[in-house]
Amino acid sequence: MTVTLTDIAISDNRLILDGQEVDSVSGETFERTSPAHDVVVARYAKGGADDVARGVTAARRAFDAGPWPRRAGVERSRVLRRVADLIRRDRDQLARIEALESGKPITQAYDEVDASAELWDYAATLARHSYGDAHNDLGPDVLAMVVNEPLGVVSIITPWNFPLLIVSQKLPFALAVGCTAVVKPSELTPGTTVHLARLIIEAGADEGVVNVVTGSGGVGSAMSAHPDVDMISFTGSTEVGRKVAAAGGQLLKRIELELGGKNPQIICADSDLDAAADAVVFGVYFNAGECCNSGSRVLVQRSIADDFVAEVVNRARRVPVGDPLDPATKVGAIVSDEQLAVIERYVSEGRSGDAELLLGGDRLASDNGRFYQPTVFANVRPEMSIAREEIFGPVLSVLTFETLDEAVGIANSTMYGLSAGIWTRDINAALSASRALRAGTVWVNRWMDGYPELPFGGYNASGEGRELGRQAIGSFTQTKTIQLQVGDRTTRWVPAAHHLGGLS
Ligand code: NDP
Repeated sequence: MTVTLTDIAISDNRLILDGQEVDSVSGETFERTSPAHDVVVARYAKGGADDVARGVTAARRAFDAGPWPRRAGVERSRVLRRVADLIRRDRDQLARIEALESGKPITQAYDEVDASAELWDYAATLARHSYGDAHNDLGPDVLAMVVNEPLGVVSIITPWNFPLLIVSQKLPFALAVGCTAVVKPSELTPGTTVHLARLIIEAGADEGVVNVVTGSGGVGSAMSAHPDVDMISFTGSTEVGRKVAAAGGQLLKRIELELGGKNPQIICADSDLDAAADAVVFGVYFNAGECCNSGSRVLVQRSIADDFVAEVVNRARRVPVGDPLDPATKVGAIVSDEQLAVIERYVSEGRSGDAELLLGGDRLASDNGRFYQPTVFANVRPEMSIAREEIFGPVLSVLTFETLDEAVGIANSTMYGLSAGIWTRDINAALSASRALRAGTVWVNRWMDGYPELPFGGYNASGEGRELGRQAIGSFTQTKTIQLQVGDRTTRWVPAAHHLGGLS
């Protein structure tokens, strides 16, 4: 479907609290302007700490007294499956909102919507598998059960780069096990999250199970500091992740953080260089580089570096940058003036260091959009900021290495550890590097593929905890051990019981 600006009607959105669409306590609103076109595309209620409190109260009540955590897994599963179907039904609308608010190409917005529906489907399957363990070999008079119980109320705080996908990496898994939630989308891209919440209600979730507070400047911190919240799940920068951890840690909440990355792709001389060059170009320019998994740091073996980099530049030069609504566009607009300023700062640091600017390095001339040229820096040294820090823009930093050990050392030398990749035809090199790379995901001869079945998260400053996969059940549950006396007591107290009960 081709979308044009003339199709766009400004949507009016309120907060979603306790199953209702309501104004914020202050009555204030804010607007979202499309970063590619500078036109207002949506209006939202401006929530504040009072609205967070309303959302937490609703979620708490839904958890403590409502049917959701008490429903059979199969019933929750049906609701989640219906949400997946409704996402597919509203595919055009969701993709359009995502492209307009974030500036991403419409084709990539469609991919994001489709991947999000898959996540809801997968979580629907997990909802029927949240079972624990039984121990029947502890002695003749005891049977023990280990059960997974839903953690409670979860605060979910999501960023602007993949708004629908990232909320779908968290929320359906929380709901699958019986948790309830308050969600705060980025104020730059709230549209798909608000729409999703409407779909969740339409799918049959009980009142108060999902609440959405739009706004900024204090909403997030109110959510991480609220005493009735049991868990905070945050995706965003490492800097704010630390604040979330500090606030939540003080109150001993469970914390799950998916933070940034400066992800290295190691290109060995013996690899399929054509496939590697494709992956490098895709890896760094996908979503305009506004991607935690961006392959923004490429380490090339010195013997092939000049030719390989020339090929990457050649391909990068042909990447179509432009209007997100044009299906031919591969790199859309940068999400905001602030993010554009971040990119410009890093590029100017790269220019003033010894790095060699081979491509781009400037905004793209346009009437009203925020576009940045695909940019390539070569001869980057590991200690430079463009080699160490997350830029979140279409900027590639190329470094070189002689031996694989050296490459792994450079790859592991930032504070991050979200993902990494190695390109080689040598299976031993691939396996030893995969083990040595300190990253939550390692791709060998591929880049950035993700599956709902596979856990995702970071080492070091890239995060804490894991999303997706079967492990997601553990992320949103806590374990309870139940022991049953079977018949008359036949065993003596074991030593541990002395400590617990002080028996003789
Ligand atoms: P931030 O990491 O700064 O996060 C902003 C969000 O965090 C807002 O929703 C804000 O809510 C909330 N927040 C702020 N303080 C707290 C707190 N103490 N407790 C809980 N929530 C809080 O994202 P930005 O949009 O400012 O992006 C900045 C940089 O982050 C980018 O340049 C990029 O490098 C990185 N980033 C990384 C992402 C990733 O996927 N890993 C995604 C997006 C950005 P409120 O406004 O209400 O306070």
